[in-house]
Amino acid sequence: MTSKLLLVKYAEIHLKGQNRPYFQRLLLRNLRLAVKHLNANAILYDSRIFVTNYEDETACIDAITKVFGVHSVCPTVQIEKSNFDHICELAADIMKDVSGTFKVIARRADKRYFLDSPQICAKVGAHVLRNNPELRVDVHNPEHVLNVEIRDQALLYAKTYPAVGGLPTGTAGRAMLLLSGGIDSPVSGFRIAKRGVQLSAVYYHSFPYTGEPVKEKIISLAKILTAYCGAIRLFVVPFTEIQQAIHEKCPEDFTTLIMRRNMMRIADQLAEKNKALALITGESIGQVASQTLEALACTDEVVSRPVFRPLIGMDKLEIINEAKQINTYETSCLPYEDCCTVFTPRHPVTHPKLKQAQFAEQPLREDDLLEQMIARAIAGTEVIDFKPQ
Ligand code: ATP
Ligand code: MG
Repeated sequence: MTSKLLLVKYAEIHLKGQNRPYFQRLLLRNLRLAVKHLNANAILYDSRIFVTNYEDETACIDAITKVFGVHSVCPTVQIEKSNFDHICELAADIMKDVSGTFKVIARRADKRYFLDSPQICAKVGAHVLRNNPELRVDVHNPEHVLNVEIRDQALLYAKTYPAVGGLPTGTAGRAMLLLSGGIDSPVSGFRIAKRGVQLSAVYYHSFPYTGEPVKEKIISLAKILTAYCGAIRLFVVPFTEIQQAIHEKCPEDFTTLIMRRNMMRIADQLAEKNKALALITGESIGQVASQTLEALACTDEVVSRPVFRPLIGMDKLEIINEAKQINTYETSCLPYEDCCTVFTPRHPVTHPKLKQAQFAEQPLREDDLLEQMIARAIAGTEVIDFKPQ
C-alpha cells in the first residue's frame, strides 16, 4: 500500500532551539488555513509536517509555497518499509520518466532498519538504473536526487518545489501597513510579513477625489497579500476633510509633507488601539520629495512607534521585480490616481526643516481643529476583514 503526501520542509525554524514547537505549531495552523479550501489537511507526523488528503496536487503545492516559514515542498510517496523489494520498485516507478544524471540519498531515522544508508543507496540506485537506461549516476553533481527516508514508514521523493521562506505569520507580533494603491507598499508589507509579522493595513480614502475604483484596488491588493500573509484587517479611513483643510490652510509647498505627517498620526493611533507594535510604509530614499532624509525625519517625528521601511535602499526596478514575483504588480498598475492632482503641490519642499514643517502645520492646530478632524476620521473608519480564500 502506498499513499501520496506533500512533505513540507521548513525554513529558518530549524535554527530555533526551545521555541521550535511554538514555531511549528503556528506553521501548522497557517498551512491548514492555506489548504482548507482544497479540502486538504496539514499534520505533524514523525517530527515532519505533511499535507495530506488533497485532490488537486498542483493547487496544493501552489498554496503551500506561499506560506511563510516553508522552505520547500516535495511530493512524496509513503510505503510500508518492511518489504525492501517494494521500495525498489516504487523508486524505479518514480524515476521512470526522468533522464540524465541522478543519485540516491538515503536517511535512516529508524536505526534498527536491516540495511544501513549506504546499502539502501546502492540497492535502490542499482534497481533504478536497471529499469531506466536513460539515467546515469553522478554522486557529485546530479541533475536529480531521489530521497529515500526510512522512518515509521519509508518515504520517497525526487522533486522539490522551492517556497517563499521566512518565518510563520503570527510568530513576531503585529504591525500596521500603510497600504496605498501604488507598487511599493504591498511589497513592503510582504517583506515585513515574511519575518512572521501579522499585518493590519490602513488606507486613506479621499472620496470623491479618489473614487471607489481605488478602494476596490486596495481591496484586491489586500486579498492578494492574504495568500502569503494570512488574515489582514483593513482600515479604510475617510481622509477628505483633513486633506481639504491642509489644502486650504497650509503653505502649498508643505502640503504633501503635512499630509504624510497626518497619515502617520492616524496610523499610530490605529496601531495603538489594535496592538500593532510598528508601522510599515513603502518609502525609498529620494523616490519623491516626501522621501528625502529630511522629509522622512519630519514624518517620523509625529509617531510613537518604530516605522519600518523595508524598501528604503531599493531602486524602483528592483521593487517592480518583487511586485511581479508576489503578483501585486498588475493590480498596482491599474490606472487610478491615488491622490487627486488638486492636492499635489507644484513645488513640494524637498529638504524641509522640522521647525518649518511644524510651523506650516500651525493653522491646523487652532481650536484643536486637527485633533477633532483626526478623531472624526478614526470614528468614521470602515473595517474590512480578509482571510485566506
Ligand atoms: P506607493 O507606490 O506605495 O503608493 P508612492 O510612491 O505613491 O508609494 P508616497 O505617495 O510618497 O509614495 O507614499 C509613501 C508611502 O506612504 C506609501 O508607500 C504608503 O506606505 C503610504 N501611503 C501613501 N498614500 C497612502 C494612502 N492613500 N493610504 C495609505 N497609505 C498611503
Ligand atoms: Mg513609492
